[in-house]
This record gives sequence, C-alpha cells and structure tokens, in this order.
Amino acid sequence: MNAVFGSAGVETVGVLLPIPAGKPYSYGVPQGMTLAPGDIVQVPLGPRQVAGIVWEGGEHTVDPAKLRMVTRRFDCPPLDRAMREFIDWVAAYTLSPPGMVARMALRAPEAFEPPAPGIGLRYCGVEPERLTGARKSVLALARDGVAWSKSGLAHAAGVTPSVVEGLVKLGTLETVELPPARLVPLPDPDFARAELDAQQTLAADTLRQSVAGGGFAVTLLDGVTGSGKTEVYFEAVAAALQAGRQVLILLPEIALTSAFIERFEQRFGARPAEWHSDVPPRRREQAWRQAGTGEVRVVAGARSALFLPFRDLGLIVVDEEHDPAYKQEERVFYNARDMAVKRAQIGDFPVVLASATPSIETRVNADAGRYGRVRLADRFGEAVLPDIHVIDMRRDPPRSGRFISPVLARAVGETLKRGEQSLLFLNRRGYAPLTLCRVCGHRFQCPDCSAWLVEHRFRRQLLCHHCGHNEPTPEACPQCGALDHLVACGPGVERLAEEVVDLFPDAATVVLSSDLAGGVKRLRLELEAVARGEADIVIGTQLVAKGHNFPKMTCVGVVDADLGLANGDPRAAERTFQLLSQVTGRAGRTGRKSAGHLQTWQPQHPVIAAIASGDGERFYEREIDSRRASGLPPFGRLTSIIVSAATRAEAESHARALRRAAPAAPDIAILGPAEAPLALIRGRHRMRLLAHGERRSDMQAFLRAMLAAGPKERGSVKVQIDIDPQSFL
Ligand code: ADP
Ligand code: ZN
Repeated sequence: MNAVFGSAGVETVGVLLPIPAGKPYSYGVPQGMTLAPGDIVQVPLGPRQVAGIVWEGGEHTVDPAKLRMVTRRFDCPPLDRAMREFIDWVAAYTLSPPGMVARMALRAPEAFEPPAPGIGLRYCGVEPERLTGARKSVLALARDGVAWSKSGLAHAAGVTPSVVEGLVKLGTLETVELPPARLVPLPDPDFARAELDAQQTLAADTLRQSVAGGGFAVTLLDGVTGSGKTEVYFEAVAAALQAGRQVLILLPEIALTSAFIERFEQRFGARPAEWHSDVPPRRREQAWRQAGTGEVRVVAGARSALFLPFRDLGLIVVDEEHDPAYKQEERVFYNARDMAVKRAQIGDFPVVLASATPSIETRVNADAGRYGRVRLADRFGEAVLPDIHVIDMRRDPPRSGRFISPVLARAVGETLKRGEQSLLFLNRRGYAPLTLCRVCGHRFQCPDCSAWLVEHRFRRQLLCHHCGHNEPTPEACPQCGALDHLVACGPGVERLAEEVVDLFPDAATVVLSSDLAGGVKRLRLELEAVARGEADIVIGTQLVAKGHNFPKMTCVGVVDADLGLANGDPRAAERTFQLLSQVTGRAGRTGRKSAGHLQTWQPQHPVIAAIASGDGERFYEREIDSRRASGLPPFGRLTSIIVSAATRAEAESHARALRRAAPAAPDIAILGPAEAPLALIRGRHRMRLLAHGERRSDMQAFLRAMLAAGPKERGSVKVQIDIDPQSFL
C-alpha cells in the first residue's frame, strides 16, 4: 500500500474509525507490523482503545510529535476492496461520515480474534485393560481416530460423560485442540430440488442464467402471493453455490419467519446463518467471522447483513423488495434494497428483487429495461387468488361503537362453520388510538410528543407510540376530575378482539401485534400455532400481513382499508396497495376457495378499485403516470431535512438559515421550512425542509454545498438528512 513516512521516519497508515469523522485518522505502524488496506486494527483514541479499518487514499497527515501507534492488528480476514468501496459509496450517497458506515461493518467486536480452540478427544491406540459395555460403545466410535468433543462422544455412544472421562484418565483417549466449529453445515445445492411447474421453470432458468453468466445484473422476480417466488429464487441460490460463491438473502421480518429457515433447510439440507437483532451475540459473532472466512456460504438476514464482511459474495436476493422495513431511519439513513443493488454493482454480481407488489421505483426500472423481469402470474398448484369484495361502510355500517360490518361478520361466521380460519387486519396497536373525557373534552396527549396517548387495556396503560411514555389509565379526568367519563375513540386490535369475542364467543381468537407480552419469541410461536390451524380468528397488525403461509386461512377482512390513504405521504397509495394486496394474499394459499373483504368508506378510490378488480397493472399504470406528472420518485428526487432542537425558535431559525445557504440550482427546489407533521418527538421540536430535484440532479452536491455554507449544528440543534425518504412525518 501507499505507506506514508512521517519526518521521524515512522511509517503511517490511515485508519477509518467508527466515529462521526469525515476521513481516516493517521497512525504510526510499529516496527515489524505489516498492514494492508482492509485490515482490522486496534488503535488508541483519546483514553480508549477502538477498532478501525486500515483505509487507503485520502490525506491523513498528523504532527509526528503527536503520532500514536497502531496497537495491534487483529487476526481477522480483511474487508475486501469491494466492501471498502461500498462503505465509501454509502457514506457519500447518504451524506454520512464514512466512519459511521464503517461502524455498521464492525458490529461484532468479539469476532475480530479467532475463537479459542475447543478441546477434543482422540483415541490413541492404548486399549484399557477392562472393557465394559459402555467403554466398548465409546471405543467403537472413537477407534477410527477422528476427534470428538467430550459431550458429543458421550451422547453418540449413549453413555454418561464419566465413562468418557474414565477413558481419558486411563490414557485411552487423549485431548487435542479442535478447529472452531462451523456455525452451520455447508448447504448442498442438490439436496432436494423442488419440482417446478412450467412458469416457475422458465423464471428459474432466467435467474440461473443470470447467476451463471456472472456480472452485475438486476432481475425483478414479480409473482403473485403464493406463486412460489421462494422456490424459484432458491434455484438462483443453488446456482451461486455451485459456482462457489456466497449468497445473501435479505428478508424484511426475518425474526418472525422461522418458516423460511425451515424451507431453506429442506431445500439445501442445512440452515443458513441468520443475522438480525434477535440472534444471540455468540451466534452473531460467529456469523460475522465465518462470513469473512467463507465458512458460512449463505446468510439470511435483516438489512444490516449488507455490511457483513463477505469473502466472496456472488448473489443477493432481496425478498419483499418493496417493504418499508428496508429503510433504516437512524444515524445512517439508507434503503437496503437500493444499497444491495449498489453492492452488487461494485462486486459485479447479480441481484434478484422479489415481490408480489414491487415498488414503483423497481417497476419503472424494469419497464425501462434497466432491470430484467421475470413473472409468475398464477399461484402454484391448486391455489387460486382470493375473491376480493368491497364492503361499502356507508351502506352496511356496523352498529354504533362497533367496527365490524354485518357483511364481514357474516363472512367470518361462515368461515367458522366450515372449520377454516379468518384474519381480521387492523394496523393499530392497543385498544383505542385516542381517549377523551366526555365531560370537559380533555384529550390525553403525550407530554413530550405531538401525539395522542394510545390506550392499552390489557396493560391498563396509556402509551405513546413514539417515545414509549406511559401512564396508568386514570379513573378520573386529570383536568375536570369527573369520574368514569373517559371514552375510547376509534378501534385498536384489542378493542376489535372485544367485539369478536362478543360476536363469536365460542371461537378461538388470538390477537397478534408487536407489543405482545413475551416479545418476538412469543410472536413467532403464536404465528406457528396459527399456521398449524390452532386459532379460528386471528386479529393482527401488519406483522401478520407479511410472507406467512397459513394453510387454513380462507377469509381475510381488512377492518379499515382507508387507514393509510389520507396521510399526505407521496407513497400513501402505493403503500396501501401493497399492504392490502399482501394481507388479502394470506387467504387461500392451499387451494380452498377464499375471499378478502375490504371495509371502506370510499369504494371508488383508485387503490381500492384496483385491488377489488384484481387488476394490479391498472394501479401501476395510474400511479406511475401520476408520479411522472408531478416529478416524484423515481422521476424526480427527494431529500428530507429535519432540523430539531430543544425549542421551536432554535429549530426554525436554523432551518431558515440552512435554506438561505442553499446554492442556486435550476434543477432543485427547496420547500419549507415547515413544522414537521410530528412537530414534537421526545421533547424536541422538529422543522422540515424538503429538497425536490429532477431525476438527474446532483442532490448530494447541492446538499453538501448547503451544509458547508450554512450554520453548523450548535447547542441542542441537530440536522438529519434523509435521502430518498420513506417517511414524511
Ligand atoms: P410466494 O413467496 O410467491 O408467496 P412461496 O414460495 O411461499 O410463494 O410458495 C407458496 C406455497 O407453494 C408454499 O407453501 C410452497 O412450498 C408451495 N410451492 C410453490 N412452488 C412449489 C413447487 N414447485 N413444489 C412444491 N411446492 C411449491
Ligand atoms: Zn411521546
């Protein structure tokens, strides 16, 4: 590498540290240490020791008198050139300090050093004098000279560990060091090929060719729910494995989809390594390290798996590519779907984007020929898509204080009679989104956020869904003191459950939402039970909408199909279309006749009409036209700039100064500042600027110029830049 020699004759290197610094810091290389770009090292930083990555290029000069030395080089596979280029690119694209992106690649500090070797036992040729039955069973296994772990040997021989220990004492077994265990066995691409039908075969062939051809290419795998997208992209995975490459499969809700891991195991004879926040630390460390050594061949992970230090990545699959969960909205604001495409381009390998309801961005890219597209138009086997019925709430309203129309209640009742399952979908946690006092009109609001407190009746709490503030549900109004006059306004899933129990007292009803006591583990178990057919009526938020296979589910009711349509977000229509298609797509996946019911007050709304007609293409055409007409993504570019501060005045004056600092650009307009819809979160006041550019405008250069000329963050002021925002709150 380009070593730099300071005046004192010490060789120096740049080290990218996991801190919000704009460039690498300079460190001296101790005599006898050789370093190359990508090496992970430990260096002093202030009073601490931190891990960083040896980085090429860039200036990193330092006063030799102050030069500090690299402490040590970890015994760890280096980050390859593609990964380093990726880190720099993500930083530049998202306007984040490169160190903060590097931080995401250094998420497993315990894995920088090799794990301590395990202790194994091996037969050394000396037979014990007395051969009991138990000893014979042990020796029958150990005699071939392969090393075993103590517990593994005892277990396999069906004896107690003390028998094995006895043989060690007698000198029959000797202790040896075992190589570190593989986190998961090697997947076998030929383990259990599925028999694909004609349309699947066609799609799989296209994907296999893209993998075999190598080189960067993006393919949209666009198939209705239940068409077998997973089976099809598994063939691309198999092709990459056969070519000796590693594979990354991104899944939006992997913590909840144990079914996916099992399907993978059935197909490849081994589980993939999992990477998400619910994986225990020890297994995360192994996944990180073994992705780097190449021992792990396939990772199934959440968005942050993009930053694993793969040794030879050759394919990325982004399942449910349209899912908003791919957007990270803290520290580094990035969309993992888009970054996956960039990662593949840098690494020069293919990427597959799978969805039943592709994002508008991806559809436009496919229509324009920039992405390939393979389609699965029908469900696999006997299964057919559900019939969609629109329930006009103006004509068939529920009783006052109720939320289920008699039409939907009848459908659920008939499903019950057939012994099949129903899903009632409502994307609202808790009992009621608003509580007020009937006497004085007082509304319960979060003291730190501009949001109502949501009643959670099971917990007897009023809860803020933005900051977690909670207070016990009072009996008297805190404003006027009236007793027992608080009323719940609107439904949440808990309240819906009350209504369902009242309507169907004998049905087994379960409520699934992300705040279920017992967390992710409990949710996963509940979802598995539902898949086995163990509930008659499931009431759930959006987490039940995604990817699950519920064989007995034949009736899906969307309690408030209009919920997402009215929030002023440029993606509201797209989001609603996707969510409603996904949730109704839970019905009828095994050949039984099924139905989806949408309760709506605006049945002629284009989104509702498109879903009711089953003509998704009509929706896409309309939505793409309207985005084009208004220059919204992907026909234009957006960046949201949130300025927050302890007081509204500070936030506002900083936001105004930023706007004044914006350079003149003919192709980028800046809107605002305006108060953000969530004007207050956790006691911080929020103002928003929106930059709206043409498709080819250099948004990043514009923003960099604005930030350089504008005031610096000072006092309580914070500026968040969100390129390609998903959230407009
Ligand atoms: P999607 O991801 O498109 O919603 P899946 O891949 O989950 O669809 O497939 C839906 C169901 O059909 C699953 O239960 C899957 O096992 C089954 N299936 C799809 N294709 C095949 C096939 N070729 N052979 C056997 N089962 C299949
Ligand atoms: Zn709050």
